[in-house]
Amino acid sequence: AQLYLQRIDAARDLNAFIEVEPELTLEQARGADAQRARGEGGPLTGVPVAHKDVFVTRRWRSTAGSKMLAGYESPFDATVVERLARAGMVTLGKTNMDEFAMGSSNENSAFGPVRNPWDTQAVPGGSSGGSAAAVAARLAPAATATDTGGSIRQPASFSGVTGIKPTYGRVSRYGMIAFASSLDQGGPMAASAADCALLLNAMAGFDERDSTSLQRADEDYTRYLGQPLTADAPAGRPLTGLRIGLPTEYFGAGLSEDVRAAVEAALKQYEALGATLVPVSLPKTELSIPVYYVIAPAEASSNLSRFDGVRYGHRASEYRDLLDMYKKSRAQGFGPEVKRRILVGTYVLSHGYYDAYYLQAQKIRRIIAQDFQEAFKVCDVIMGPVAPSVAWDIGAKGDDPVQMYLADIYTLSVSLAGLPGMSVPCGFGAGQNAQRPVGLQIIGKYFDEARMLQIADAFQ
Ligand code: GLN
Repeated sequence: AQLYLQRIDAARDLNAFIEVEPELTLEQARGADAQRARGEGGPLTGVPVAHKDVFVTRRWRSTAGSKMLAGYESPFDATVVERLARAGMVTLGKTNMDEFAMGSSNENSAFGPVRNPWDTQAVPGGSSGGSAAAVAARLAPAATATDTGGSIRQPASFSGVTGIKPTYGRVSRYGMIAFASSLDQGGPMAASAADCALLLNAMAGFDERDSTSLQRADEDYTRYLGQPLTADAPAGRPLTGLRIGLPTEYFGAGLSEDVRAAVEAALKQYEALGATLVPVSLPKTELSIPVYYVIAPAEASSNLSRFDGVRYGHRASEYRDLLDMYKKSRAQGFGPEVKRRILVGTYVLSHGYYDAYYLQAQKIRRIIAQDFQEAFKVCDVIMGPVAPSVAWDIGAKGDDPVQMYLADIYTLSVSLAGLPGMSVPCGFGAGQNAQRPVGLQIIGKYFDEARMLQIADAFQ
């Protein structure tokens, strides 16, 4: 813990952390040491972890990257935080993120952008950019993150780390500051799939305090690691029998050549491991952008209504009456992207527009999920790029939100369907982008995380 705290301090230019409290960290570390000395604890006891600032923590302040919550002290720990602490993990601090997890580059944080450790001109991806940069720069061996439409997979891809978004409902949302409740899902980021499996063991599981938490028996996500897919797989070809689906729509125009080359090289390697590649189609992929950018803002506009300066959040210092206080507090506390989403969300939910936008989006969401079910009839996992390009320069898309939304094309439909998805580092861009990582996306069937982690681990 001491070593990581020193590294965090030395790497302040990356702006990966919003909050560190070295005394609290060292106190937890001493507790873990004592536990070990008694011969107690498990594989994660004493291992440091950084938490995305969207998870509330009792002793570290929690902001969700927003001025609205600056200085907020939660009276309780999020379930994810509590579970990892119970597993003996030591909190290093809170990582920077796009405000309320809205964004794909971490430039929407009220606490400034995060730099990509591989190339400090580049964004780390978002919204979990601080967690991704922290793991990439080895400021933390592991981090928590959340994914609503790609925010674990895309920053993992841009920053060259491994991250998994589990099936919706696997990881408790209790204490995770809500963005879009039907999509939000927590998960780990780490240096490898094997590390992610260990973290998921501690994070996942039923929680009665989250009404959408899955009531399923706990499972060991490490159980297939290092094993061949079937007992009769020939030596050196552990993935014999695995059918990898390649969606045509994920390899069309719009995919940059360097990302395509890195992903195709990874697929070759999977063939060498014994897998076969089968073409599949996810015909509604393009619609995932308008559908997501209706549903997510709709839910956000409702979730964010609690930040009124009374129940939660920043309160303006001068106002005429109650309504004026709400207006001024929200105008001052929220950044431009959050305001944009609240406006869009309120509009699509309003009388006369609900049927045309929100209801329509819900129907297409169902069809998007069905597309995956069709594809999974002929393959076991789906693979493709995480994003159409490598990380872009800080500032490059800053004033064009739609450009940013379009870059989410390969991650949104997985979230809309509630499927598990992960990003595994598979190479780098080309030319000027030779320092910028590329991630391979692995999409699994519902509840198939243990298989996905085995498949990712075989590649690593
Ligand atoms: N980039 C998407 C958005 O801005 C996804 C963010 C996320 O997964 N939290 O909404």
